[in-house]
Amino acid sequence: MNKIDINTKLNEIPFIKIISELAKREGVKIYLVGGFVRDLILNRQRNDIDILVIGNGPDFAEKSAKELEVNNLVLYKNFGTAHFTFDDYDVEFVGARKESYDRKSRNPVVENGTFEDDINRRDFTINTIAISINDEDFGLVIDRFNGIQDIKDKIIRTPIDPLITFNDDPLRILRAFRFASQLQFEVHDSVMIAANQLRERLKIISQERITDELLKILESSKPSVGLKLLFISGVLEIIFPEIHQLAGVEQRKDYHHKDVFFHTCEVVDNVSSKTDNIWLRFAALVHDIAKPNTKKFIDGIGWTFHGHEEIGARMIKNIFKKYKLPFHKIEYVEKLVRLHLRPIALASEEVTDSAIRRLIVQAGDKLDDLITLCRADITSKNIQKVEKYLENYDLVMRRVKEVEEKDKLRSFQSPVRGDEIMKVCNIPPGKKVGLIKADIEEAILDGLIPNTYEAAFEYLLKIKNKYLNSDI
Ligand code: ATP
Ligand code: MG
Repeated sequence: MNKIDINTKLNEIPFIKIISELAKREGVKIYLVGGFVRDLILNRQRNDIDILVIGNGPDFAEKSAKELEVNNLVLYKNFGTAHFTFDDYDVEFVGARKESYDRKSRNPVVENGTFEDDINRRDFTINTIAISINDEDFGLVIDRFNGIQDIKDKIIRTPIDPLITFNDDPLRILRAFRFASQLQFEVHDSVMIAANQLRERLKIISQERITDELLKILESSKPSVGLKLLFISGVLEIIFPEIHQLAGVEQRKDYHHKDVFFHTCEVVDNVSSKTDNIWLRFAALVHDIAKPNTKKFIDGIGWTFHGHEEIGARMIKNIFKKYKLPFHKIEYVEKLVRLHLRPIALASEEVTDSAIRRLIVQAGDKLDDLITLCRADITSKNIQKVEKYLENYDLVMRRVKEVEEKDKLRSFQSPVRGDEIMKVCNIPPGKKVGLIKADIEEAILDGLIPNTYEAAFEYLLKIKNKYLNSDI
């Protein structure tokens, strides 16, 4: 991108000229930096802008806010940063700083610094490019570490020895892989070697930050890029050992199973090509998580992973706890892991309505996501096989539609509620109410009675004495 293009782009941003003039009046220098500049060179539009102030960042932000008449300024004086929104733009100001690190923490000692100090502390060459928005050289691109060439070559490398970069702040290891995954860039060999050598240092990083980077990898258009870098560098073993353990193939006699890690990478990519739903992508990542624990070799049959879907589902809660993931997503991921083999088991014309009904009720409003996962789980290289498997899912979904139309099941709820059961049977809340309710639901799912209030009520009258007379 040449200077004219850059100036045109900058002039499209409504406030840049205004703060440029303000900076001139105030006698401070300001520059665009960070992801905004990187993405401008990549011709990618983005609305969050980092502004480097040579001087006091929050002070200049306050003056800019006044000038632009924005009243949503937030100051982080301790960090020397400030933020406001203007039109559709998120604007972040940061004062130039110099950082020095000690070994125990990723939080450096920070002092005010020059433009050079600030650029030198940045993590990757592609993140060191700055654009002046000062009157005298407006639009000038300052590229001390050949970041533009590295963007062209699609490569992530550090401006200084990566061993120092990563030793100072090991989070940068994950940032390298995350940028590679987001931008579909390669990672320089020296970065891989340093990441491998210093991976244990990631233990000083808080789980929240690690998880944040991992989720950003999962959000990227082809997450396998980041996942494989994590694996190859040995970093995955430190930050997500349960996924690392999926790797490897064992052979016995003529049987070998496929490498579950690389299969998982494919499944995650397949899901990601269909949906941005991060939790569906996460479910893909963990769907086979219990395969190592359930692996068994059976003579004459080969490798089996019996029950891995149920055992995997039971591992999800601890995974969420350990990796500080949002608890309200546990049930969703559990359900997808638990049911991921179910639809294929139902792929036959002979399967009964009631088996289909059970799937509909158990999957509930997650059924479409479940089928997306199941389809993504087909990673055979044999095109005929893939087509046949996909057709099987079409068949299951056709049956689902038929049964749903028959009994409007997707949001299944027992037609007779608990309080009505208590009234009719004249019993207090307790175990019996639950048993009677479950009995009615089973009768509907088995197709014994239709899914209507009248039928369910009549059925209640028929079965109630059996429960009332027993001493459960
Ligand atoms: P994105 O916003 O797309 O995640 P970004 O490059 O803007 O990417 P940010 O985390 O927003 O990344 O940080 C802005 C800039 O600050 C980066 O481009 C980089 O120059 C610098 N930076 C951020 N975090 C670090 C770090 N841990 N070590 C060194 N420099 C960093
Ligand atoms: Mg940013």
